[in-house]
Amino acid sequence: MQKVLSSIERRTKIVATLGPASSSVEVLSDLIEAGVDVFRLNFSHGCHADHSKAIEIVREQATLKNRHVGIMGDLQGPKIRIGQLQQDSMELANGQEIVLTIDASSANSLQNRIHVTYEPLPTSVHAEDILLLDDGRIRLLVKSTSTTDVVCEVTQAGPLSSRKGINRLGGGLAADAITEKDLEDLQCIIENNLEFVAVSFPCRGSDLLPVRDALTKAGSEAKIIAKIERAEVVANDANLQELIDAADGVMVARGDLGVEIGDPQLIGIQKKIIKMARKSNKPVITATQMMESMITQPVPTRAEVFDVANAVLDCTDAVMLSGETATGAFPVKVVEAMSETAIGAEKHPTMVQSGYRLERIFTQSNECIALSAMYAANHLEGISAIVCLSESGNTPLIASRIRSGLPIYGVSRNLMACRRMALMRGVIPLYFDPTQSGDVGEAIMSLIAERGELLSGQRIAFTCGDSPGEGGSSNTLKLLTYRA
Ligand code: PGA
Ligand code: MN
Repeated sequence: MQKVLSSIERRTKIVATLGPASSSVEVLSDLIEAGVDVFRLNFSHGCHADHSKAIEIVREQATLKNRHVGIMGDLQGPKIRIGQLQQDSMELANGQEIVLTIDASSANSLQNRIHVTYEPLPTSVHAEDILLLDDGRIRLLVKSTSTTDVVCEVTQAGPLSSRKGINRLGGGLAADAITEKDLEDLQCIIENNLEFVAVSFPCRGSDLLPVRDALTKAGSEAKIIAKIERAEVVANDANLQELIDAADGVMVARGDLGVEIGDPQLIGIQKKIIKMARKSNKPVITATQMMESMITQPVPTRAEVFDVANAVLDCTDAVMLSGETATGAFPVKVVEAMSETAIGAEKHPTMVQSGYRLERIFTQSNECIALSAMYAANHLEGISAIVCLSESGNTPLIASRIRSGLPIYGVSRNLMACRRMALMRGVIPLYFDPTQSGDVGEAIMSLIAERGELLSGQRIAFTCGDSPGEGGSSNTLKLLTYRA
């Protein structure tokens, strides 16, 4: 095999959540330097002005560094939470009785009556149900219910503070997926021209429709990432497939999903979601508590390194950091640790082989071309890169569903497509306008050579269409040799 010179040291992409620990120009600049590919804005926190400011800095810094960096707005969704506690936090003890009530006037957390704004709560839970507060840290056993109250016994004690989330073991606490607040936040996402919008707690494909409609109406190109975080969605493959099909990408949202189905089940579900997403030609992000201890510690635990590595071996497109970069003490160090871990895991021999899709019949020419290119590149001696000229980024996306040790250059004259490709495993986004040059293949090879990533005599597998500029029209695979 010829030496691959590409800058693609790491194929797996890193999504980092922005927050108070990471919103200054200095930290953002260092985070991009350390390897963040996509930033996530969590609309559960912060105001539109703060988000817009952060977006502006990310765009500026990425341009300065000549990097295509995507931004994802994550809608809060209908997370069910307890209300404000009188003393902002309280200590719960095992065996203690607490009452969750939807009746604000009778709530008094000093007397262990805690307000919950979710009106259907008393009718949707039953005696013997297990409720989990604060991402599962606190466990309650439901003893009885009335029209306004849910009487519980604390079975796993701990400190409780205001506005913590409530989940039911096994799922089933559902509200409309898109709230009024989400629609307002979506306007901020549209106005700022973000590449991705993450939808929280969808139960089924139709839950994404209000977002899809708003995006279409506004002429936005933002791609919808469905967060898989409800037990119902993963209860059977048909539900999961239906939601994947309706979305443009998915997130294994382990925070809420793990609480609803239990972590021992989650490992298998994570592998299944990643596999199904890749088969469906959708990018997939693995999220939450990946390097949690680095919120306070400068190095990850071995278990965390192995968790990130496991997701890489599962072939996730991206691994995500939440509190680690939003509020943690070591936002830059954690990105470096995650990056090193991914690079290490990608050395595993199974990461460069592919099972291919020999059983598949393709319906679109660009899918067939993308996969033919991968087959040629992986099997022909002396190929050092795959280069997909693409208006929308769709051909590089499909190509990147196939495992390979070779870099995939996603070449587009559409800057937003370049930033979308920042999420795709193994794809290096490259800006290039094919309408401005004669021999497009030659021009792109020179561009890659200028980056020091292609040498005279090396070959590439190159895909393109007859009418550059039209999305999904790739119909040509060429094997080209670069002559300096
Ligand atoms: P969240 O989503 O961080 O918005 O809760 C991710 C998850 O649940 O894992
Ligand atoms: Mn969640």
